[in-house]
Amino acid sequence: MKKHKNKLIIVTAPSGAGKTTIVHHLIDTFPELAFSISATNRPKREKETDGVDYYFISSEDFKNKIASKEFLEYEEVYTGRFYGTLKSELERLWQQGKCIIFDVEVKGAVNIQKAYPAASLSIFIMPPSKEILLERLRQRNTETPQTLNQRMERAEEELTYAPRFNATIVNDNLQDALIKAENLVRDFLIKK
Ligand code: 5GP
Repeated sequence: MKKHKNKLIIVTAPSGAGKTTIVHHLIDTFPELAFSISATNRPKREKETDGVDYYFISSEDFKNKIASKEFLEYEEVYTGRFYGTLKSELERLWQQGKCIIFDVEVKGAVNIQKAYPAASLSIFIMPPSKEILLERLRQRNTETPQTLNQRMERAEEELTYAPRFNATIVNDNLQDALIKAENLVRDFLIKK
């Protein structure tokens, strides 16, 4: 499992900081990148597609995969809601000769980087303020008041992880953040 040919780019942030937009932009910009599709037992949102955004699996299936050590890493991100990177997903993308880009929460990001320290670049996307983060989560309209609260509480803790990553981008202006991310990734992909 530790054997790999290609680089890994780990994008992490508190939920709502805009990391998914940045990840999509990087994939559109660099054809050598491919998105690591995580497995989750959370319900699919309307705009999401199974096998594209996530592998949507049952709680039982998720537990079985934990037991059979199929995950490189996984986290219970919210109570009862599991998300994880399957080892088979890395194999699938490496077989295609791709560099892998991850959109994961902070603990998963730390663990992926620990598994592949020399080959990975980790980027933390910092929201400009807690108020703006709350506003973005509200506007996304995917949360109930309860999950919104959970996400904000979690965000407070996640912000303390920033110094653990290779680079931080403050997402106060999306265009600037996209350019900064692009430059970081370009430099990293060029390096031997
Ligand atoms: P959402 O439910 O908004 O799609 O994702 C919730 C959080 O789980 C986000 O911060 C997302 O980056 C994170 N996440 C998605 N996939 C994984 C994964 O495979 N591992 C970990 N540790 N976090 C993940």
